[in-house]
Amino acid sequence: MIAAMTTTHYAEVAVPTPLRQVFDYRIPDGCEPPVAGARVSITFGNRPMTAVVMACKQQTTLADEQIKPIEAVLDRQAVLPPALIKLMLWAADYYQHPVGECISTALPNALRKGLAPPELTTTLWQIADREAADRLPANARKQRQVIDYLLQHGSLDKQQASALQISSSVLKTLVDKGCLQQSLSPPLIDRHPRAKPGHVQLNEEQQQICDDFAAHDKSFAAFLLEGITGSGKTEVYLQLIEKTLQQGRQALVLVPEIGLTPQTIDRFRKRFDCPLAVFHSSLTDKQRLLHWQQARCGQARIIIGTRSALFTVTSELGLIIVDEEHDLSYKQQDGLRYSARDMACMRAKLEDIPVVLASATPTLESLHNVQNGKFSHWRLTRRAGNASPPQVDVLDIRKQAIHDGLAESALPFIQQCIDRGEQALLFINRRGYAPGLVCHDCGWIAQCQACDARMTVHQKANHLRCHHCGAGSMIPAKCPDCQSLNLIRTGAGTERIEQSLKQRFTGTPVFRIDRDTTAGKGSMQQILDNIHQQSAALLVGTQMLAKGHHFPNVTLVLIIDADQSLTGTDFRAIERFGQLVTQVTGRAGRAQKPGRALIQTHFPDHPQLLKLVHRGYHALAMDLLGERKMMQLPPFSHQALIRLEDKDPEQAINSLQKLKQALGGQPVLAIGPFPAALQRRAWYFRYQLLLQARSRRQLKQGIQALLAATPAAIRGHRQRWSIDIDPQDMS
Ligand code: ADP
Ligand code: ZN
Ligand code: ZN
Repeated sequence: MIAAMTTTHYAEVAVPTPLRQVFDYRIPDGCEPPVAGARVSITFGNRPMTAVVMACKQQTTLADEQIKPIEAVLDRQAVLPPALIKLMLWAADYYQHPVGECISTALPNALRKGLAPPELTTTLWQIADREAADRLPANARKQRQVIDYLLQHGSLDKQQASALQISSSVLKTLVDKGCLQQSLSPPLIDRHPRAKPGHVQLNEEQQQICDDFAAHDKSFAAFLLEGITGSGKTEVYLQLIEKTLQQGRQALVLVPEIGLTPQTIDRFRKRFDCPLAVFHSSLTDKQRLLHWQQARCGQARIIIGTRSALFTVTSELGLIIVDEEHDLSYKQQDGLRYSARDMACMRAKLEDIPVVLASATPTLESLHNVQNGKFSHWRLTRRAGNASPPQVDVLDIRKQAIHDGLAESALPFIQQCIDRGEQALLFINRRGYAPGLVCHDCGWIAQCQACDARMTVHQKANHLRCHHCGAGSMIPAKCPDCQSLNLIRTGAGTERIEQSLKQRFTGTPVFRIDRDTTAGKGSMQQILDNIHQQSAALLVGTQMLAKGHHFPNVTLVLIIDADQSLTGTDFRAIERFGQLVTQVTGRAGRAQKPGRALIQTHFPDHPQLLKLVHRGYHALAMDLLGERKMMQLPPFSHQALIRLEDKDPEQAINSLQKLKQALGGQPVLAIGPFPAALQRRAWYFRYQLLLQARSRRQLKQGIQALLAATPAAIRGHRQRWSIDIDPQDMS
């Protein structure tokens, strides 16, 4: 029998376009067929593009004259291994998003642009002339140390040299003498790096979790690590990482926002003697690609990064950690609107490894997954070391004088804190000086022209700014309507509170932490360093302050504007409020000194606020979960939000009506069209249609029916629209 000659002629490629399909291209004669997951250059329409090969095949339904050739194969080795391709195909299906855009989302920008992954090399030193080495004088101690090491280990790279405290000048001398030769080679991969000793003695709860993890067989399992703030969660997952490294495997750690928590990265560097790949926002595309390559070849044993670091290619991944799993930044808000937390669980499943979600304030989705047995539950109920949880109290500010946002009765607490030489943290989720500029004589209000929103006063910059579209102008000297000079600033933001504190508590340093003061590279670290050097100090900031910081000297936390979130209309408002308040108050008293937290409110009897204060986040979350079940809201049902923007509001409503009709007899509840909370932004009117279904399958079928109707319902390029599965933000 003669075996048939098998030749592949065509490749199915994923192209980053909104079209929901893959495309066939011809593999030119004599060209080695690319592997699945490799990039190729193609012409799409008339544009050159980088695409990713999904599969090769012998036949195509396209006619010869329709099919275009692949212009170049860019990778011999896949840049997306099978597990990641599977993950992105899962995402395309789950999020009902075009497959080519999903595949592209998983690539670092440099690879999307067609750049080649860099070749990794390291300088290696080896013995060149044994006799010359033996002739080294006995008093050349450092030089002899190098030779002894090389006789034992064969070679030495830069990292080992620095670990042995051998300077480059010693190595250079030895090369000059002809004893050593220096060469470039692929990096040495230390698959069993050590953790540095000297860390804390685990308490009983922590130990139990580590034992539980050690007993697990390292196949897929999901764990929710729920521990109150300062209970030693980070310590626990550092230990889990250590165990994973010992087994010769890599660990991937997702964090909400790296720039804001340089302390976390520091802790990793101090703890582990191995190359880390840290993905933060100030990396250039090239640096990012280098780190990606280090993770891919196995040189980097720990990968830390924000949302998109989830897609880092690894050689032998053994564990995924999602720190602060409740954080909203894990949800991408444009393009592929994925949840990195949920996709982390899916990746762990596909790679058959454990995943740990950690938080002091887990989402109701994760707590629900504990209840239905999908996640194992680990709890830390006490603060680690000697610290005790802060005492949280409600501060009834009704009928009180309010000074720039601060209630009269809050002031003595701040003064006492300063007098003790300690620090107070004041939280307000609004940056700028004031959220409103109003004419006291005629009632004119500074509005953004392009949005249904007020302009925010930025006093120092002498600017009015729209926080929704970025539009800005100078602060007018007089009212544009009645020429009055009597313009007043209403409400308070971080800048106003900072100024007010400086005037009121003269001599005490005041630090403001918000997007305006931390925009520059390294400025967050600078502010944090300054804070750590102070005794008495006042810290004012937005939710940036809530994120995982450790301020040992903060003993008082004041939440200035709780009411805004207590009265939110989103069905997640109270859950979010509970998370934010718990995270912010959790910054108090993390070291030896006891902490106190005060919540300024006009609703001191609000039942859910009281529940939070008296029984804590977990109890509140359990209550809320019961309510969600009763009302069949997520996680007991599943939602998708269709967003649509048009400069003409009638047209926006009209299009969404048509999409709604396409749902016909589907078992999907459709609510809307209704205007978004911010109805007009950057000249576009924003409308929404909310879908809700009992099961994922029903939701998906509904969306597919709706997608089929889009060509007739959407007004081409004049409208922008998107589908958001599991929407987290309906503003
Ligand atoms: P979390 O991540 O839950 O906020 P951390 O792991 O950051 O908590 O721990 C809070 C503080 O307590 C850190 O300074 C940490 O070094 C310390 N710590 C953690 N575990 C222990 C322990 N078992 N004994 C003493 N101190 C500990
Ligand atoms: Zn006026
Ligand atoms: Zn605007």
